[in-house]
Amino acid sequence: MKYVCKHCSKVYEASASLWRCECGASLWCDFFATFRKKDIDSSDLTMWRYSKAYPLTRDQITVSYNEGLTPLARTDWDGLNLLIKMDCLMPSGSFKDRGVAMVINYLRTQGVKHITEDSSGNAGASNAAYAALAGIRCDIYVPAGAAEGKLMQTRLYNARMHAVSGSRDAVAQAAQQDPEGGVYAGHNWHPFFVQGTKSAAYEMWEQNGFKAPEAVVSAVGNGSTLVGMYLGFSELLASGEISRMPRLYGIQAENCNTIARAFNGESLDYEVKPTIAEGISLYRPSKVDEVVCMARESGGAILSVSEEEIASALLQAGSRGFCIEPTTAASFAGVNKLRQSGDLAKGESVGVTLSGTGLKATAAITEIMNAKNYNR
Ligand SMILES: [Zn+2]
Repeated sequence: MKYVCKHCSKVYEASASLWRCECGASLWCDFFATFRKKDIDSSDLTMWRYSKAYPLTRDQITVSYNEGLTPLARTDWDGLNLLIKMDCLMPSGSFKDRGVAMVINYLRTQGVKHITEDSSGNAGASNAAYAALAGIRCDIYVPAGAAEGKLMQTRLYNARMHAVSGSRDAVAQAAQQDPEGGVYAGHNWHPFFVQGTKSAAYEMWEQNGFKAPEAVVSAVGNGSTLVGMYLGFSELLASGEISRMPRLYGIQAENCNTIARAFNGESLDYEVKPTIAEGISLYRPSKVDEVVCMARESGGAILSVSEEEIASALLQAGSRGFCIEPTTAASFAGVNKLRQSGDLAKGESVGVTLSGTGLKATAAITEIMNAKNYNR
C-alpha cells in the first residue's frame, strides 16, 4: 500500500508510524476499489461483506465485533424521504467504529501492540473498545477538565488516560509523541480511517435497493463521514453500479466552522465559540481543502447552523423517535435549512448518518429540554 498527499503529491510506502505528510497535510491510501453488486459476500452480515472494496483482505480482519450493517431507517421529514443510517448501534455507540476497526486491523497487520489517540469523545471510546478486544495497550490523551461522564466509556474499557492542559493542539501533540512509544492511531489523521467510514456508503447503497440517495447530509468537524460517503459512492459510480453521485452536504456549527468558511472563501482567522455539537468542534481540521473539493464536485455545499437550530432539530428528531446526540442534531438542522432554501426538494431521498447515540449525552439533552420547557 502506498500513501499519497493531495497537496504536494508526495508518495510514501505505508507504515505503522506514518500518519501525516512532510508538508503537514493529510495522507490518503492510494487505493480505489472497483466493486460490483456480485462482489458482496452475502453470507457475511457485517461491514466486511464489502471486503473487496477495502485495502485489507477479509483474512486480515482479526479484531472485530462483527460490526456494521446497521439498519437504514426511513421517515418522511417535511416531504423528504429521509434514509437514516443507525450508526448509534455500532459497538461503542458511534460511527467512529467503522474507521477505528479498519485502522486497528491495519496496525495489527504491522505488529503494533500499543496505540495512542487524542479524544475525549466517541473516537477515544471507540479506540479503547477495539484495543480492549484486541488485547493491545491504549493510551488516550484528553483535555484537562473534560467532563467525567464523557470519559466513562474510555475508562471502563481499561484505556490509560492522560489529561493535558492547554490547547486542543497540545493534546494531539502529546498523543503523537507518546513517551512510551505508542503508535499514533489518531482518527483525524490516519489514512485507513476513511477507508472504514466508507463502508456506510456501501451499506446505504445496498439497503436502498442498490441506489444512491439524491443527497447525503453529514455533520462535519474533520469531515470523515462526508469523505467516507464521497469515497464509497465515487467507487460505485466508477464501477457502473450507480448512475450519479449524491450531492454531499457538510454541516458545521456556526460557532466553529472552518470548513464552511473555506467553502465560502471567507477568512479562517476567527474566534471559535463553544458549541453543543462538541464532536464537530475542530478549529483546525486536517482535510479542509479536500472536504471542500468533495462537496463542490458532488454538487453539494458546506453550510453552518446555529446553536438554536441544532437544539430544535435535536428535539424534533426526538419527537419522531430518534434519540441523537447534539453533534448528530447538526445534520438534522442542516436538512431543515436545505429544505427551507429549496436545495433539498420535496420527494427527494436524503441520507443522514445517525452518528452517535443520545444516550451518551443525557445531561446535555436534559438541559436542552429544560431550557425549552419541552414536555413539561
Ligand atoms: Zn504533502
